[in-house]
Amino acid sequence: MKDPNPSTFDTAVIGAGLAGLVAANRLADAGRSVIVVDGLGASGGRSRTSLLADHLVNQGPHALYVGGHADRALQRLGIPVEGGAPPTRGTRGLYDDRLHLLPAGPVSLLRTSLLSPVEKITVGALLARLPRLDPVPLDDVTVDDWIDSVTRREAVRNLLAALFRLATYVNCPELLSAGAALRQLSMAVDDGVLYLHGGWQTLVDGLTTRAEAAGVVFRYDGSVTGVLGESPRLAIRTATEDLSARTTIVAAGGPETAERLTGATGLVEAAGPPTRVAVLDLALDHQPDHRFVLGIDHPVYFSVHGPPARLAPDGQATASAVRYLHPRADGPADENRSALEDIAAASGVQASSLLADRYLHAMTVAHGIPLAERGGLAGRPGIDAADRPGVLIAGDWVGPEGMLADAAAASAWAAADVLLGTP
Ligand SMILES: Cc1cc2nc3c(=O)[nH]c(=O)nc-3n(C[C@H](O)[C@H](O)[C@H](O)COP(=O)(O)OP(=O)(O)OC[C@H]3O[C@@H](n4cnc5c(N)ncnc54)[C@H](O)[C@@H]3O)c2cc1C
Repeated sequence: MKDPNPSTFDTAVIGAGLAGLVAANRLADAGRSVIVVDGLGASGGRSRTSLLADHLVNQGPHALYVGGHADRALQRLGIPVEGGAPPTRGTRGLYDDRLHLLPAGPVSLLRTSLLSPVEKITVGALLARLPRLDPVPLDDVTVDDWIDSVTRREAVRNLLAALFRLATYVNCPELLSAGAALRQLSMAVDDGVLYLHGGWQTLVDGLTTRAEAAGVVFRYDGSVTGVLGESPRLAIRTATEDLSARTTIVAAGGPETAERLTGATGLVEAAGPPTRVAVLDLALDHQPDHRFVLGIDHPVYFSVHGPPARLAPDGQATASAVRYLHPRADGPADENRSALEDIAAASGVQASSLLADRYLHAMTVAHGIPLAERGGLAGRPGIDAADRPGVLIAGDWVGPEGMLADAAAASAWAAADVLLGTP
């Protein structure tokens, strides 16, 4: 029987977001004593879900990549992943202020007014090649350079850039690794994504309950200010006390925090700039005309998440509009909001259907970008980048696997593996 309150924990996990929760569950399953510390008052981090009118809204629209690292980690931990796939038929692209059928498959490619006949042939050939493209030689090529190498046609270039934005959330093709972007796009095209019933809170609740049952201790009352000492005698310092642990996993968001807590250097630079978006979440009393609209010549998109996910009362709709921000220019909040209202209006949202809205300015989707100049995913800081024995790092900017929540889950899993000595 595990001591519920040992004087020294085997591992202190700092941060109770998806990464911290995955790591804590794995370690506790192996019989380790684990304490999770978070200053936010509850677990979940950016995977929390809240209420807007009677609608469930994530921290901005969230889609789980089917077969990705997060999905696999959740399946292995026995956490149910249930939801609906976004519609692919009838999706629209917004180009030159007009809606066009989005060329998402062979039929819509033939019918779309977005592309000329020659451009349709180019896009058809590219989409057919996509699954067979080897991303490895493109890891150190930027998305901009890769697009340059495959087409000079403006509409095709815009379409490719929009699809990469959609799959990666990154609006920075001059820095983003084409290899990383292509892996992400292929995963979305091959296996699709799920909008989760009940929102991502179901994952948070499932992981938290499971961890508690396995003996993990949660402390939500104090932000950690430093990881002091040396493994196996680490002091995890909060405003009120020092917690004693043999090892730690810092899963506390971004590279600035990891540098501050561990004393590591160079993490911010290696992670690249954060990926940020402005979001308008909408509770609507009926479905808008269009359920999925992708900005082709503007970095925006609109999607109704509920249904297909169970987020809204029957007959109503939960939707989000997103503006992808450039890492070096968040832009003024009022300008972002008005761009979001424009795409919602273009998607057929009527003011009379609006029950409630919530605007989120410059939300950090991921604390980094896989940079072409660092060789893409492989160039991100590793789980051992703090360079201190027994001090590991996890998050959506860490490690060579996946992007977004997939990177958070993969790095957390790998950090737990190291502490468990699992090959
Ligand atoms: C608008 C938006 C849309 C997104 N869409 C998608 C999507 O479609 N698909 C996808 O896969 N991912 C998506 N993501 C990304 C996904 O939410 C994150 O990758 C994932 O939640 C990261 O989990 P994490 O545990 O690494 O970090 P977080 O969730 O940020 O958790 C970190 C935790 O650490 C805590 N913490 C911070 N500092 C300290 C400290 N000093 N002491 C103690 N605790 C601390 C925080 O309170 C927080 O709870 C989206 C994110 C946003 C914002």
